Amino acid sequence: MKLRLILSDQLNINHSWFQTKSEDVLYVMMETRLEMEYVCLHRQKQLGILVNMRDFSSKIRSRGNNMHYICLDDSENEQQLDWNLLRLLSEYPVTKFEFQEADEYSTHAMLQQFVTSLDIPYEEVSSEHFFTEKDELGKFFAGKKKFLMEHFYRHMRKRHHILVDGNDEPVGGKWNYDGQNRERFPDDMPVPEPYVFHHDLTSINEMLDKMEIKSMGHVNQKDFIWPVGREEALEMLNHFLQHLLPHFGTYQDAMTTRGWTLFHSRVSFALNRKLVSPKEVVQAALDAYQNDASVTLPQVEGFIRQIIGWREYMRGVYWNQMPEYATKNHFFADRPLPAFYWTGKTDMNCLRHVITQSLDYGWAHHIQRLMIPGNFAMLIGADPDQVDDWFLGMYHDAIQWVEMPNGRGMSQFADGGIVGTKPYAVSANYINNMSDYCQFCTFDKNKKVGKDACPFNALYWHFYHRNRKRLAWYPRLNQIFAIWDRMPEDRRTAYLKQAEDFLKRL
Ligand SMILES: Cc1cc2nc3c(=O)[nH]c(=O)nc-3n(C[C@H](O)[C@H](O)[C@H](O)COP(=O)(O)OP(=O)(O)OC[C@H]3O[C@@H](n4cnc5c(N)ncnc54)[C@H](O)[C@@H]3O)c2cc1C
Ligand code: SF4
Repeated sequence: MKLRLILSDQLNINHSWFQTKSEDVLYVMMETRLEMEYVCLHRQKQLGILVNMRDFSSKIRSRGNNMHYICLDDSENEQQLDWNLLRLLSEYPVTKFEFQEADEYSTHAMLQQFVTSLDIPYEEVSSEHFFTEKDELGKFFAGKKKFLMEHFYRHMRKRHHILVDGNDEPVGGKWNYDGQNRERFPDDMPVPEPYVFHHDLTSINEMLDKMEIKSMGHVNQKDFIWPVGREEALEMLNHFLQHLLPHFGTYQDAMTTRGWTLFHSRVSFALNRKLVSPKEVVQAALDAYQNDASVTLPQVEGFIRQIIGWREYMRGVYWNQMPEYATKNHFFADRPLPAFYWTGKTDMNCLRHVITQSLDYGWAHHIQRLMIPGNFAMLIGADPDQVDDWFLGMYHDAIQWVEMPNGRGMSQFADGGIVGTKPYAVSANYINNMSDYCQFCTFDKNKKVGKDACPFNALYWHFYHRNRKRLAWYPRLNQIFAIWDRMPEDRRTAYLKQAEDFLKRL
């Protein structure tokens, strides 16, 4: 028989493997301690992965297929993918091993190594999920020093005929409506009600406790709010298309203490685990744009850019740059992340709010991740390895091929500018423009020095000052250094002292 491996992020029921039933195929899925603990994961993420794997395996079985499913607490479980596979290969009369291409570099490397030791034929097949091949971005940017997302995005629009006219020109005359997508959330606008589910996952949670699987974050095991299975993921997507997409682009970057989901789709977990495909999500958004007058071009373009632009681009960067990318540390940053990243206990309201929300739900939107915990970590010079682990553990959608270019690249600039053309460093001014966080903070957003001065302000200048040699040749930063150079000497000294005193207390 053929043994076909299904990884925890390959829950794609529309894969051609599952379109025909075959008696001589044995599907294999496994839960492993290694996957649950490779970094400290949010408990809701662990539950989401396990419940969706179990749901998927029962769907495969219900279609009459053979399935060998190894639960985390099965006595036969060797707790590692390759060890379990070796045991199964010795137990079943397997004549061929088949697997889908892995998205994570370490799993890919492990499987490549594993198959070389086999004395039976094997085959690696496509996961049939992405718009692009792993090496497509590398080929597109061949010979170029910079990987500009906007160039790649326009290429994707033309190549896949998305929002372009017959001459490959953008519908509406503009490629990008980013300029209209940066509105602050109005104080008098009602926040959308989060679309949640209610699952009782007590038994899985108890199993994790019994096995002493380490985790972080808060969980209500009796009321797990995330979708389970493709149908619920599609239900949440439909809710987004009907009720949230009309405002998605406009308030994409906005942050508020009044609600946690705003107009975001929260489809990332379902996408990354392949419960839904990016092609169907994009088509559904295009259909909404065609059929619903409240969905305007800037909204739909803003959403589609995230999927065919950023998502595919980040995957391409990851596969083009790994494994070296995982060691990049442009600023030689080595400070441990402060303990409040795991508790939310800090007086800085922006950090308290975003970290507490993340601990509560395992989710924060892009600008929250980038500009609050990400920005702060870069300003204090946090070790990018720790930052990667934190993002990977905290967010329920986190998976290394998306996390690393976003975390190490975009948020920490540890890649020296492969993903971003300048660091995403901001002070209280930006945070106050895009959120209501500063209104409820004990620190004064306008002050740079003094006991109640917002720490972000002095840290911002300290970051640029201490990293100047490593940033001097980035043209987009000339203006920032010119402002710093024009400041009176005593002011610069006061800002640096303020930041250094703060860093000593961290
Ligand atoms: C430091 C950091 C770490 C991140 N780690 C991850 C991660 O591990 N996994 C992950 O899926 N996203 C990650 N992102 C990107 C983004 O924050 C999430 O995709 C998004 O917040 C998920 O919520 P949503 O589905 O409501 O997204 P929406 O705002 O509704 O966007 C729709 C979809 O577009 C895609 N998308 C949006 N922005 C990005 C981006 N920058 N890169 C790749 N895809 C994007 C996602 O698939 C998302 O589901 C990270 C961002 C930052 C700044
Ligand atoms: S004042 Fe500073 S610390 Fe407080 S919320 Fe604003 S940016 Fe954050």
